[in-house]
Amino acid sequence: MKAAPANTVCRHCGAVLDALARRRGVDFCGAARCRHQAAQAHTAGLKQALSTAALAAARSQLQLQEAPAALVWLQHCEPQMIAVDDDDRDRHRSYLESVVADGMVIDRSRLAASTADDKHPQGARLCAQCRGRCCEHGAGWRAFIDLTVLSRWQQEHPACSLADAVDAYVTMLPAEHVRGACLYQTATGCAMPRERRADICNGFACEALQQVQHVAESVPASAVLAITFHRDQVERAAVIEADATHAIALETPTRTRTMSRPTPNHAMQTDALSAKLPQAPSRAADRER
Ligand code: SF4
Ligand code: SF4
Ligand SMILES: [Zn+2]
Repeated sequence: MKAAPANTVCRHCGAVLDALARRRGVDFCGAARCRHQAAQAHTAGLKQALSTAALAAARSQLQLQEAPAALVWLQHCEPQMIAVDDDDRDRHRSYLESVVADGMVIDRSRLAASTADDKHPQGARLCAQCRGRCCEHGAGWRAFIDLTVLSRWQQEHPACSLADAVDAYVTMLPAEHVRGACLYQTATGCAMPRERRADICNGFACEALQQVQHVAESVPASAVLAITFHRDQVERAAVIEADATHAIALETPTRTRTMSRPTPNHAMQTDALSAKLPQAPSRAADRER
């Protein structure tokens, strides 16, 4: 049998492209797997083009002597505030009471390992630039509060009971929190002081933060470039130094495409943190603003 010309077969699975695909000028078939691979390739290409453009923009807009030591990608986070209402407080109290009644302790093996290193100010600046994406996991995990957390409070207040610890944690709820995220996440970070938070909140560092910590560990004065990238668009970009954050203007480069626009779902699947969602980590939001 005569082989089909290369431009008429799917580049991912080799299937012959149908008339619609050929009319659209794409080089992949309609199979979900191939569309997903094409979307990933498209996003990777955009990021590559953006990396070069971003480093050049950072140097020219900020007159930097040296290029930033690293480029990190942040996920979409545009917090909207809503009230913490009486129902929220009641549900949270019920949950905390059940923690005490059942002696519930979160299995740490289900959470990400502690990798946060607070020595480097670039780290707190990165989290401020991000706006606290990882604290959305605190919604499903109820701020990661378990008996360990409540017992720690009680040990520091020897005259008090675990019921008092429940009261204390309900009292620490803010008036407003970030919609869809942890009840303790406010517009300026976590409503709780560090010592009151679960260990995972203080210990979690996403991949971007780990990268920043790594470069700052090698050279403490390192600057890094952070780009918030969502659905193949640049949302924000900044050069982060130890003592300052400088926003830069950046546009998403246009590429010659041989594929259709990826769906939001495809774009999300390229996010590093999405791959970790089952572990549902969270990060303490000691963010500078
Ligand atoms: S640790 Fe959390 S707040 Fe900090 S950059 Fe990563 S996702 Fe954002
Ligand atoms: S750091 Fe605070 S806001 Fe974030 S998940 Fe933990 S308790 Fe919630
Ligand atoms: Zn295919």
